Amino acid sequence: MTRVVVLGAGPAGTSAAIALRRAGYEVVLVDPAGVTAGESVPPSITTALGLLGLGTAELDREHPRSLGTASEWGAPGLAHRDYLLDGLGPGWHLDRARFDRMLRATAVAAGAVLVPDRHRAASRTPSGWSITCRATRLTADVVVDATGRRAAFATARGARRWFADRLVGVTAIVPDPSVRGHVVLEAAENGWWYASPQPGDRSVIAWLSDVDLLRRDGCARPAPWLAALRRTRHIGAPPDEPALTVRDARSHLLVPDAGRDWIAVGDAAMALDPLSSAGIAEAIRSGVLAADLIATRRLGHERGLGRRFADYLRQRRDLYRLERRWISPFWTRRWAVTTPRPR
Ligand SMILES: Cc1cc2nc3c(=O)[nH]c(=O)nc-3n(C[C@H](O)[C@H](O)[C@H](O)COP(=O)(O)OP(=O)(O)OC[C@H]3O[C@@H](n4cnc5c(N)ncnc54)[C@H](O)[C@@H]3O)c2cc1C
Repeated sequence: MTRVVVLGAGPAGTSAAIALRRAGYEVVLVDPAGVTAGESVPPSITTALGLLGLGTAELDREHPRSLGTASEWGAPGLAHRDYLLDGLGPGWHLDRARFDRMLRATAVAAGAVLVPDRHRAASRTPSGWSITCRATRLTADVVVDATGRRAAFATARGARRWFADRLVGVTAIVPDPSVRGHVVLEAAENGWWYASPQPGDRSVIAWLSDVDLLRRDGCARPAPWLAALRRTRHIGAPPDEPALTVRDARSHLLVPDAGRDWIAVGDAAMALDPLSSAGIAEAIRSGVLAADLIATRRLGHERGLGRRFADYLRQRRDLYRLERRWISPFWTRRWAVTTPRPR
C-alpha cells in the first residue's frame, strides 16, 4: 500500500489525511501539537467541512456563532455585514486548539496514525523518502508538506516563498464578558485591529502591521500595544498588559508547490492576509485537492496556484484601497500593484 507521510496536522494536513485514508492510503500524520490562538471562520467553512463529510453540529456545540463583521474601514463609524441577513448561514468564532483536535480525531478515526513529533530533515531513498523527526524515523512514498507558513519540508528541498508584504500579527487573548457576535475590525494609521470573541468570555485581539513599522512603534511589546489599543474607538482594552504572541502574517506563494512525490498544502503552499478570514477554509480545500491529485497520480501537475495568487493580490489591493484616510507607509504600500519577491 502507498504510504503518505503528512507533516503538520493543522486544517490542511488533517484534511489531506482524512481524504487520503478514505481513498485507501496508509497515512502517518506528524505534528508536535502546535499552539494556535482563536480565529473566526465565515460561512464558507460549512462547504469546506462538507468536502470531508463533516457537518457543523460539533462547531455549534463547541464554538460560538459568528454573526458577521463590524468594521470601521475607509470611513468613521462601524459598518455591519451580517452573514444571516445575507442568507449565507452562520460563521463561527473558533477555539483553534479544539477545532484542530476535532479534525485530528476524525483523521485518526479514519485510520491515520498520529505521531506527536517534529519533522527535522528528509532525504531521498531508492523507493521514496526517509523522514527524520526529533524522536522517530519514518519512510514514505509521498510526502505532504502541511507545516504552515514555514513550509519546512519544501523550503529545505529548495522551494522558495515569494512574499507580497511584511505583515505581522501581534495577538493577545483577553477576558471580555461583553456579548458580541461580530468580528470587529478597525483601521488605524499604521495597520489594523481585529477582535474576535472566544468561548469562555474571552476575545482574541490582534494588531496587524508591517514588521519595520512594528519595530519603529514598539507595538510588539505589551505597554505600547495596549496604549495603541486604548486609542481605538470600537475595541475594548483589557485593564492590564496582556501576554502577546507575534505571528507571521505575510502573504506568500511557494514555488514550486509540488514535485513528483511531494506536495505542499494550506499555508505552506499559499498564505493569505488574515483580512480575508479565508485561511482555514482554503486549507481544508487544499488538503482535499492534494489527496485527489495523489490518488489520481497527477502529483506535480500545475494546480494554477500562481494564477490564483495573482487574483488574490488584486482583490487584496482593492480592499486596502477602500481605506484612504491616512497617507502612511502601511497603506500606500498596499495601494500599489504588488510584485512578490523571494526571500
Ligand atoms: C494573525 C493571524 C490571524 C488569522 N486569522 C484567521 C481567521 O480569523 N480565520 C481564518 O480562516 N484564518 C485565519 N488565519 C489564517 C489561518 O491561521 C491559516 O490559514 C490556517 O491555520 C492554515 O492551516 P494549515 O493547516 O495550512 O497551517 P497551520 O494551521 O499553521 O498548521 C500547521 C501545522 O504544522 C505543524 N508543524 C509545523 N512545523 C512542523 C514540523 N517541522 N513537523 C511537523 N509538524 C509541523 C504545526 O504544529 C501546525 O499544527 C490567520 C492567520 C494569522 C497569522
